[in-house]
Amino acid sequence: MTKQCEQQAWTWRRLRLATLLLGFLCHATGLYPNTYPTPGQVLIHELTHVWQIAYSSFIPGTVCNGIVNQTNRIVGENVYQYGTPEIPWSEINLEAQGAIVDQWFGGTATAVVPHRTPMDVNDPYFHYIRDNIRARNTG
Ligand SMILES: [Zn+2]
Repeated sequence: MTKQCEQQAWTWRRLRLATLLLGFLCHATGLYPNTYPTPGQVLIHELTHVWQIAYSSFIPGTVCNGIVNQTNRIVGENVYQYGTPEIPWSEINLEAQGAIVDQWFGGTATAVVPHRTPMDVNDPYFHYIRDNIRARNTG
């Protein structure tokens, strides 16, 4: 590995860590009470963002999408809301991807799945965990 590659790798590792820490702080401040009722759910949400950066083929695009998400949240759009489980993973915004993973982990009830069990492999959203997160597939 060249010196430049080592420096770039180090930069991305620091970016991932900063994303995890800042996101954790933002979500853990209590701004969104009852959003993460299960212990560890905030961490799972933030680790999803780390996963997004780790496996993105275009890091600047991922960072820009995150900024767009936060801007949309400021203007009132619920960026954590996601649709039915037929939508391709790549068409779901970064925050909604985080919500899918943390709500599957926590067993958070949604309109589509009103009765949920944490980490249920029969959950209609489990295919995202199996086919995208675990398979390291961003598509
Ligand atoms: Zn998030």
